[in-house]
This record gives sequence, structure tokens and C-alpha cells, in this order.
Amino acid sequence: MTTLDIATEPATAFVEKTPLERYVAPAKPSLIGLSREALADALGSIGVPERARKMRVQQIWHWIYFRGVTDFAAMSSVSKELRATLPEHFTLARPEVVAEQVSVDGTRKWLLRLPGETQDERPHEVETVYIPDSERGTLCVSSQVGCTLTCTFCHTGTQRLVRNLTAGEIVGQIMVARDRLGEWPGATRPTDGVIPSGDRCVTNIVMMGMGEPLYNFEAVRDALLVASDNEGIGISRRRITLSTSGVVPNIERAGAEIGCLLAVSLHAVRDELRNELVPLNRKYKITELLEACRNYPGASNARRITFEYVMLKGVNDSIDDAKALVRLLKGIPAKINLIPFNPWPGSKYECSDWEQIEKFSQVVFDAGYASPVRTPRGRDILAACGQLKSATEKLSARERMALRAMAMTD
Ligand code: SAH
Ligand code: SF4
Repeated sequence: MTTLDIATEPATAFVEKTPLERYVAPAKPSLIGLSREALADALGSIGVPERARKMRVQQIWHWIYFRGVTDFAAMSSVSKELRATLPEHFTLARPEVVAEQVSVDGTRKWLLRLPGETQDERPHEVETVYIPDSERGTLCVSSQVGCTLTCTFCHTGTQRLVRNLTAGEIVGQIMVARDRLGEWPGATRPTDGVIPSGDRCVTNIVMMGMGEPLYNFEAVRDALLVASDNEGIGISRRRITLSTSGVVPNIERAGAEIGCLLAVSLHAVRDELRNELVPLNRKYKITELLEACRNYPGASNARRITFEYVMLKGVNDSIDDAKALVRLLKGIPAKINLIPFNPWPGSKYECSDWEQIEKFSQVVFDAGYASPVRTPRGRDILAACGQLKSATEKLSARERMALRAMAMTD
């Protein structure tokens, strides 16, 4: 019997119904996040005749995603009658902002409560982080409440409550950010924090918040297609990066159906170590993962795949590891992103010493890769990579093991 077999039993014992199965969506759905087709169907369901739907979709889309209105009454190009009917059936609700924190470096973090009823002891919440500098504003978006994967260095992986977000809840995070940053035409920008100098506040999106986006593929795809739609939010797919811990079967789909940039959380160059750090590796090994990267649709020197590598002291940060890393990535149009480990309460790792990170980075640089070390942002508000976790409860070792086994067997 392997460790995995032992762990399978408690997994089924403590999870009866998933939080998503227990979840009841709001009676009046929000139109946020619907594709144009789904929006047309929604209009059809309230009696808008087929011949008028295309035009109505066009108008409503513009009001929602270009103007950012939160009230149907403001949609002045829509007929008076439809303007009155829409709020009887739908809302334009975004997730509710429960808390907003602004870091000393200008990073903002929002704790968002998702609409609908839950039977869980805690409300369903996610975090969204805005990381600005003088030229760009990157929004780090969540794809799940918690994460079923249990990477040993990641705070999100210790969260007990896990469910997939809907496309509306994913797009909703972008809408909230634009609301709070005053990014709609005529809106007022906040005076605290940092906002890039151009017209736009959110210039880039990274699916690097809570959750594994490729385990919620359809919702993430639909949401990113809304976000990149030119007549609305209009963030180009070349400015959207999806980060995965290595869900191999969905990597190609991401390239083909979303067309965004790809980031891969590699973190180790040997299967034995990666099995421990990123337990999903037991299912999809490094060679298989890199093969999927080699075949990623649209990857080229201009559209490189980012390999993320968290620097863990004495664990994966030796010079031999650095050399093995560049050997492994040979032939893949790659960028390497070294991430200093961000500690969280109770984590068992330490961040590599700065000197060691520099030596590691030098090896990568000498092999011809730009190897930026990602400066941790928003550390004071626990907004840095891997620190996101809405609940403070901790899992017991047994529960962590059970969750890990579930992720392996689904
Ligand atoms: N689930 C996806 C995306 C979210 S995590 C993934 O794993 O790729 C975004 C990035 O933060 C990943 O590269 C992840 O490995 C990294 N990360 C997680 N915890 C971290 C920590 N404590 N310090 C630094 N980076 C961390
Ligand atoms: Fe999930 Fe990514 Fe955290 Fe791993 S690193 S537990 S995949 S959010």
C-alpha cells in the first residue's frame, strides 16, 4: 500500500458534498460575466424578440463593460420598457468588497464576498490584488475559493473551503478593481496609493490569485474572453497571463481556446523534489509538463512561457539546481521568474539568502535568459504571491494529506 492509498480513505470520509454543490446562486443572477451568446439567451428568456437581441446585446455590453454602469436605469440607449424590465430579472452585481487594504508600496488587496447562499460555516470569499507601478497596473485574479492542490509552500493550499468561481465572479473581480480605481469614463481616481500614468489603471491580468485556473477551465476561459473583448474591458490576450501548477491536459486548451500567455509553476528540477513541493507532479511529471510547454499554441520568442521558481533556502536553490534548470528548458521559448519565498504564519520554509538568489540568477542569466527576481509586493498586507487565503483556519496534517490524495485521484 502506498502513502496515497492510505490517504484516500479519510478524503472521502470528510468531504460529503462539495461547497459548490451546497451553494445556492442568487435568485436574480448578475449579467456580469455572460458571453454575448449567453447574454442574448438571457434577453430571450425575458421576451426580447430574436431580431432585436443582437442590437440589445451590443448596447448592454457597452454599458456594462465600457461604461461600468451599476444600474440599468443609466442605460439611456436601451428602450425605456426594457430598462424597466431588466431589473426585475437580473442585476449588475459584483462581488461585495468586505475589506480593502493599501500597502505602503501602493499594492491594494480586496477581500471579496461572493453572492449567493452557502451552508458552510464561512462565507465564500476570495482575494484580488492590484500591483501598480508607474507604467502598468497588474491585477492578480483568483479562479477558486481556496485550492484543491496543496503545494507545501503556499498559503492558499491550506484553506479548507474550496469551490470553483463562476465566470461572473472572475470578471466581477476586474469590475470591482475598475470601480475602486475609478477606471470608468468620468469616474474619480483614488488619491492614495500608486496608479500608472496612462489612461488605464488595469493594464495586465495575471491568473495568479487563489486557486488553480486550469482546474476551473471553462469559467476561466469564458471570463478571460469577456475581459479581452475589444468593445469592453479590452485587455489584450498578450497582457493576460495564466499561471498553472501543471494541469497538463488543459495546457494546450488554454493556448487554443483563450490564447493568453502561459506561466508554469515549476519550482523544482527533479521529480522527487517537485512531488513534495507541488504534489500534482505525482500525476503529471516534469517531462510531460515540459512537453506540453513545447507544444503550447502561440509560444514564440516574442511570446515566451514564464517559468516560476520560488526560492526556498536549502531546498531548491543550489547552483546545481540552477544549471539543471537551464538544461531542462533548452529549446523552449522561456522566461524564468525567480520568486523570493513569501513566508506566512506557520510555513515551514525560509526564503533563500539574497546572495544565493543572486548566484542562482547569474547562472540563469549566463545561459541567455533574462532572470528577473520578482520583488515581493504588498508583503505588509499579506498580498504577495502565495499568501492569499481568506480564512485563517489551518488544516490538520491528516486533512492536508487527504486533500492531496483527492487532488491526485480526481
Ligand atoms: N495555482 C496557480 C496560480 C496561483 S499561485 C499556480 O500554482 O501556478 C501563483 C504563484 O505563486 C505560483 O507560481 C505559486 O507557486 C507561487 N507561490 C505560492 N506560494 C508562494 C509563496 N509562499 N511565496 C512565493 N510564491 C508562492
Ligand atoms: Fe494551489 Fe497554486 Fe497554491 Fe499550489 S501554488 S496550492 S496550485 S494556488
